[in-house]
Amino acid sequence: MRQRIMIAMAMALEPELIIADEPTTALDVTVQAQVMDLLAELRREYAMGLVLITHDLGVVADVADTIAVMYAGRIVETAPVRDLYRRPAHPYTRGLLDSVPRVDHRGERLYAIKGAPPSPLAMPSGCPFHPRCPRAQDVCRAERPPLYVVAADAGADSRTSACHFWKEELHG
Ligand code: SF4
Repeated sequence: MRQRIMIAMAMALEPELIIADEPTTALDVTVQAQVMDLLAELRREYAMGLVLITHDLGVVADVADTIAVMYAGRIVETAPVRDLYRRPAHPYTRGLLDSVPRVDHRGERLYAIKGAPPSPLAMPSGCPFHPRCPRAQDVCRAERPPLYVVAADAGADSRTSACHFWKEELHG
């Protein structure tokens, strides 16, 4: 109910853009779905922009058009939502997707990305994800990857990945 009141207060200002920071945290799954449906409905009705900030990729699948995945304070992948779920172009995105529990994997051990995010005061050299990345090689420890434009079926400039091995990740 508090989330709904917050949304109503924000809508009273007739915004062109709403930034919803973890709008479903601490809600059970049923209420999560209701809150996300409400946000999607309001976005359509009022033709406003909606930026969702979340740790739960499962929550945004039906609402978002485009996803930007961030790691250690930087964007590491951007993609239209369907492309990102179908074929991630960054190992961190793949790890996040593999971490979403699935009912058809009942009885299996839950996947978790090894290690922990780095401290902003002690960022790893090169790619900040390399201590946790299953694809990491020497170049990853030495050079920070730029945000490469990924030429995929969504169009030449609509996908990006900050991984030296985005091609292997995308097609592998
Ligand atoms: S650049 Fe290397 S360490 Fe970073 S995500 Fe890509 S493969 Fe992993």
